[in-house]
Amino acid sequence: MAGGIWTAGRVMKKNSPGVIAGRTISGKAIAGRARAVAATVREFEGGLLGKLLEGNSMGRDLEPGAGQRLLAKPAGGKAALENCARCGSCKARCPVYEITRNEAFSPRGRLMLLKGLAEGEIPPTMGLLKRLWSCALCGQCDVSCPVGIRPTTFIYRGREELRKLDTERLLLRTALRMSLRQPVLGLRAARFLGGLRYGFVKKVLPAGFSDFAARIPERRLGGEMQVIGPRKPAGRVAVFAGCTANYLMPETGEALVAMLVSMGYEVVMPRGEVCCGMPLKSLGLVREAERFAAKNIEIFGKLNVEAVISPCPTCADMIKNRYPELAGVGIEKATDSAMFFLKKLAEGGRPDAGQRPFTDLMVWHEPCHLKHGLGFNAGPLLDLLGIERPGDEGCCGLGAYLTDRGMSEELLSRRVGVYSRLTKGTGRVVTSCPGCRIQLERGGIKTAHILEVIEERFFPSALQQEAAK
Ligand code: SF4
Ligand code: SF4
Repeated sequence: MAGGIWTAGRVMKKNSPGVIAGRTISGKAIAGRARAVAATVREFEGGLLGKLLEGNSMGRDLEPGAGQRLLAKPAGGKAALENCARCGSCKARCPVYEITRNEAFSPRGRLMLLKGLAEGEIPPTMGLLKRLWSCALCGQCDVSCPVGIRPTTFIYRGREELRKLDTERLLLRTALRMSLRQPVLGLRAARFLGGLRYGFVKKVLPAGFSDFAARIPERRLGGEMQVIGPRKPAGRVAVFAGCTANYLMPETGEALVAMLVSMGYEVVMPRGEVCCGMPLKSLGLVREAERFAAKNIEIFGKLNVEAVISPCPTCADMIKNRYPELAGVGIEKATDSAMFFLKKLAEGGRPDAGQRPFTDLMVWHEPCHLKHGLGFNAGPLLDLLGIERPGDEGCCGLGAYLTDRGMSEELLSRRVGVYSRLTKGTGRVVTSCPGCRIQLERGGIKTAHILEVIEERFFPSALQQEAAK
């Protein structure tokens, strides 16, 4: 590496303001910070790329032009990376860096590697792939950068361009493609495979797959177009169920619909909803994710509704904030169910039904995409519901489950340690993400979706109607 990789001098335009952790700070303060990090910058001189990139060469080249494409597509691309001050704000709370304590497994290190790859300074290696695929895509780094770089945008791009070299996940990609095209068939196949008792089948399936498959319910939430509600509705909303609420936890989606109806809403669940595309995108299958995005935009974009509510913050974040990268436009009215209910409860629209005090212990697990993706401050809702914050919050590792199982387990075990201690073996861990629930329950934690708690607390009549069916 000749003469340093990036220089701090290029970093900041004088007096241009920036945002750190959601706070706008002045250009002067940013410039001050840039000077303060100059020492950190020096740490990167002297062939650091070589140190970051341990691992054997793959002996294969990228497709012609792949390196250049790597930085050409994300907004600002190469120019955005040129602005990187290497201040380390993005790595300060990166959960993967917290575990590895290795710069190459931090957002800053990954950006350096991708830039080096794009500029032809380093080859693609197994080591590089490992560093890219270990990212849990939590989005913490995206909201930490003082100059507005979103490291995950580049990590997704890297995965897209390098997917053909990544033979380790080839089978997984094929299985995912097929099962998302025909989810009902895919889940039937999963149930069948999970039920097989042959030793050789167990060897090729991921650990815990049989337990997971045994819990796949026969029924599902959506499918056909449904419009449910009172004769004279007070408003109209749509539900974007997402795959987990649709196929794995239909009771969560049912609770959402029951509460919306009891608030006087007409609820639309349109036919043809497909996966939001996040699992595809995380595996580098961007073309496929674009097709899924186009279909959902076509269906939900034309609905005349107050909001498109999802019981999964990852889906809500994806269809609202990530679709513009995929399809040029997002589903603007998308929101997470916890956000929607807090707004409505705060506006005074809550049914005055009992408000029974809770006596059981509930501890909050913050879904990364709710906080970093959608920017939701759950505090007021947690106070309303009597849910405790753990103080020590963090990623459960679900985002790495498909791409780096070891990292996913590490992250999970840290959360399990925290929650086992706080719930004392009797309380529940409450979250708003069905995917986080599945992950935490794999670790033996008893969980609830926040919609269930809202329903118990404010909508006992909706529960009674459900019980009477
Ligand atoms: S990406 Fe942003 S936060 Fe991370 S090192 Fe570069 S300037 Fe700092
Ligand atoms: S998305 Fe999360 S895990 Fe990935 S680099 Fe950023 S902070 Fe680290």
